[in-house]
Amino acid sequence: MSKEPPKPKIDARKLGVWLDSRGAKVECPICGHKKWSALTGANHVGNVLPYGNGEGQQYMDGFPILTLFCQNCLFIKNIALTEELLAEVRSDEPE
Ligand SMILES: [Zn+2]
Repeated sequence: MSKEPPKPKIDARKLGVWLDSRGAKVECPICGHKKWSALTGANHVGNVLPYGNGEGQQYMDGFPILTLFCQNCLFIKNIALTEELLAEVRSDEPE
């Protein structure tokens, strides 16, 4: 049996710094609340968006995303987790 590779963790502080550097608003667009939780808990990366070739064929792999939800109204927002972003916001803690 093969061992599952370690899952990268997101450093919430680094993500906040990155979002601030892009001028992203912290407030929920629905209710104005400012606290968000990661859908996958403990900030593990693990969500994907299904995608394909634009002609109805879906790729086996999904597009990696970081899904956050508002702690007040549960509105969900997704951030594309590109390799460049993951390199910037990955936790330095051992995986
Ligand atoms: Zn909200």
